[in-house]
Amino acid sequence: MTNPSLLILAGDGIGPEVMNEVKKIIGWYGAKRDLAFDVEEDLVGGAAYDAHGTPLTDATMERAQNADAVLLGAVGGPKYDTLDFSQKPERGLLRLRKEMDLYSNLRPAQCFDALADFSSLKRDVVAGLDIMIVRELTSGVYFGEPRGIHKEGNERVGVNTQRYTESEIARVARSAFELARRRGNKVCSMEKANVMESGVLWREVVTEIHATEYPDVELSHMYADAGAMQLCRWPKQFDVIVTDNLFGDLLSDAAAMLTGSLGMLPSASLGAPMANGRPKALYEPVHGSAPDIAGQGKANPIACILSFAMALRYSFDQGAEAERLEKAVEQVLADGLRTADLLGPEGGSPISTTEMGDAILAALDASL
Ligand code: NAD
Repeated sequence: MTNPSLLILAGDGIGPEVMNEVKKIIGWYGAKRDLAFDVEEDLVGGAAYDAHGTPLTDATMERAQNADAVLLGAVGGPKYDTLDFSQKPERGLLRLRKEMDLYSNLRPAQCFDALADFSSLKRDVVAGLDIMIVRELTSGVYFGEPRGIHKEGNERVGVNTQRYTESEIARVARSAFELARRRGNKVCSMEKANVMESGVLWREVVTEIHATEYPDVELSHMYADAGAMQLCRWPKQFDVIVTDNLFGDLLSDAAAMLTGSLGMLPSASLGAPMANGRPKALYEPVHGSAPDIAGQGKANPIACILSFAMALRYSFDQGAEAERLEKAVEQVLADGLRTADLLGPEGGSPISTTEMGDAILAALDASL
């Protein structure tokens, strides 16, 4: 049996800092849980541009295609702001998502009890929240043709096209139903079938896939605007929400903020199963490279660590070990340990990126 392979692309800014803590945790699983990974590291974003003049080389792209999972830190920074669009660090990330065809973007919104007061909503609305937004990531209005700005008579017209094929809807719906089976067994599909034909088709296809393949999962439908309202009113009514690229962009950001800091939010982007049955997969924190705090040991590594927990669960079928890691994070927060971004207005003394990683390792040790 060979070990599963992980490609680490730490990237720029705080990316390498938070990824260092993840590497310690990967090492812990090899040493203490007999769960070793073959880890390779490579460059992406500004770091790849500095070394190779491109934000992602073909060789790195090929390594990503062949890895069982890719873990990414963050890309970007002011140093690269003046580069041509095609060379910008973000293009490296977009190329990975596009060429790996990562159509299902998983954004959990989970509220650890110790951080419930961080939310802009009342404690009882968010404490214990655990929902998952599945956003279609490779189609819809961000990609549809025709698009552009043209002249009609005396004025300019901006055009974008919302377009979905049945198979695009079906595959992301399946991804949501599969997830629901591992969680609370409920899916709420959101679109605007009241005003958009693409929404009518979305609803029809999700309903068909449900009836023929996932009748055991509870399915409901909601217009996306009502869904936004319900997310703020009583988010705990949801388990898995599945929605298109545009609505998912908005709803997942809104849901994320229910839980407090950007430094806490992981994500996964999944594609079709590979020959070994594992999905193509890229795991990354939601936050960027945070140039304002890079190199100062202030970054919160938890978003990146929780992204690795998602990899354990969704790429390596190690749900119990993912839960162990999430519980370790929860324990450290319950103990009152905080990086600077997690200190409220009352202040307190923050711990460093490395200290947070070490505290999580100690909590993992204590879990044995
Ligand atoms: P950002 O997420 O990097 O930072 C926003 C704010 O949150 C900053 O004040 C930052 O200090 C703070 N923050 C973010 N992550 C944190 C963490 N782990 N711990 C503590 N504080 C944290 O967003 P931005 O400032 O808009 O963008 C900075 C750069 O990152 C830009 O070049 C942008 O293009 C890039 N970016 C990359 C990604 C990605 O790699 N997926 C995502 C967003 C932005």
